[in-house]
Amino acid sequence: MAIERTFSIIKPDATARNLTGAVNAIIEKAGLRIVAQKRILMTRAQAETFYAVHKARPFFGELVDFMISGPVVVQVLEGEGAILKYRDVMGATDPSKAADGTIRKAHAKSIGENSVHGSDAADTAAIEIAQFFSGNEIVG
Ligand code: ADP
Ligand code: MG
Repeated sequence: MAIERTFSIIKPDATARNLTGAVNAIIEKAGLRIVAQKRILMTRAQAETFYAVHKARPFFGELVDFMISGPVVVQVLEGEGAILKYRDVMGATDPSKAADGTIRKAHAKSIGENSVHGSDAADTAAIEIAQFFSGNEIVG
């Protein structure tokens, strides 16, 4: 399998509970390498652009409000099959359906406040990485 890069966000519910290190430990234990990382406060415009695909969904407003409610940690993760691997490591969107050992099973509070984001495909990974990182900020 090819070495890929995926985009990750440690969401405000997790940073608020001081879980950045706990989440990163699960990521690294799964064999994914954190090749870029920064803690930011997203603007409303950034969050709306980032989640534009969900604009028509009933939870869109709540999702944007949540994502700008506190600091997030944006990351680029690298590894073999990183995109699908990170989706597995994150667990299901709804933590009550997430498998044991996943980040969301261990830490997520609800389907909305679910601790992490991960890209769902190669094209979205490239777009999401480019939204938050320039090439020289990613060191593999
Ligand atoms: P994922 O983050 O697992 O890829 P989606 O792309 O479907 O999930 O949704 C994006 C984010 O929107 C979720 O991670 C979650 O924060 C929020 N969300 C999804 N579904 C709901 C819902 N039914 N109610 C509230 N928030 C939701
Ligand atoms: Mg998604």
